[in-house]
Amino acid sequence: MAAPLASLEGACNNLAGKLKSVPAGECKSAGLNVAGSASVQGQPILWRDYRSVKSKTPAKRVLLVGGIHGDELSSVAVTFEWMRRLSDQEKQPFYWRVVPCLNPDGVLAKVSKRVNANGVDLNRNFPTPDWNSKATLYWNNKTKSDPRRYPGKRAGSEPETRWLIDQIKSFKPDAIVSIHAPYGVLDFDGPRTPPQRLGFLNLNELGTYPGSLGNYAGEFLGIPIITLELPHSEASPTVAQSGRIWNDLLKWLERNLPQGAPPLFQRLSDPNWLRNAP
Ligand SMILES: [Zn+2]
Repeated sequence: MAAPLASLEGACNNLAGKLKSVPAGECKSAGLNVAGSASVQGQPILWRDYRSVKSKTPAKRVLLVGGIHGDELSSVAVTFEWMRRLSDQEKQPFYWRVVPCLNPDGVLAKVSKRVNANGVDLNRNFPTPDWNSKATLYWNNKTKSDPRRYPGKRAGSEPETRWLIDQIKSFKPDAIVSIHAPYGVLDFDGPRTPPQRLGFLNLNELGTYPGSLGNYAGEFLGIPIITLELPHSEASPTVAQSGRIWNDLLKWLERNLPQGAPPLFQRLSDPNWLRNAP
C-alpha cells in the first residue's frame, strides 16, 4: 500500500472544502491520526480512538465508519458530529475506533462519487466467501453492470478495503456501525436482535450483497453490524435528530454488548483462523 501523500492538515483542508459542517480547524484539532496506508490517489485515511474513562473491565469495542461511499457526504458529517459527542461524553462505556471517511478519493472528486478512484464500490469489495462465485455475476446480471456498483477485479483489491479489513482484524470490534445514505432506514447483519429503531430511522433489513461490509463482518465474521442509511446524501440530519440516533445507538450497544461478557466472536480471537481468513 502506498503511504499517504497529504498531511493531516492537507486532508482536513480538502475535507472542509467539501463539507460545510466540518471546519478545517476542527478537523485538524480532532485528534485524528493519518493511517499508514492511503487511498488510491494517496489521500490519507483518518482515524482515531476514544476510550471510556468509566470502564473497569476491558471495554467492548465499536468500530464506526463513515464515507465508504464518497457521494454520501452526510455520512461523513454525522461521523464528525458523533466525534464531538465522544469528546464530550468521556463516561460513555465503549472503546471506539472512528473512521470518518474511508473513501476520501470519492468524497474529494470534483463531483463526489460513490466509488473510489479505481471506480470500485468499496462496499462490494470485501472478501466474503461468496465473492468469487457471485460478485461479478451479481454485478453483470442484477445491476446491469452499473458502474456505481462495480465490485472490483478481485475481492479486497482496493487499498481502502484492505486497510479496513486490517482494522477489523487488529481492533477486533464487538460491533460495527457503518453510516450511509439516502434510504432513511437502518439495516442490520450478524448475531444479536437488531434495534427496531434508532432515532427516526426504522429497521428495514435490506439483505446483503456479495462483497458488502454487512455480509463480510456480519454474516462471515459474526460481528453485529448496524448500517445506518441517512435520508439524504448531502443534507445531514439536524444535530437534535442525529443526537437521538446516537442516544438510541448507545442504549442498544449497552444492552447487547454487556461489559464483562466473554467475546462473542471466537473466530477473531483465533490466530489460526485470522491468518487464513480472506
Ligand atoms: Zn452507501
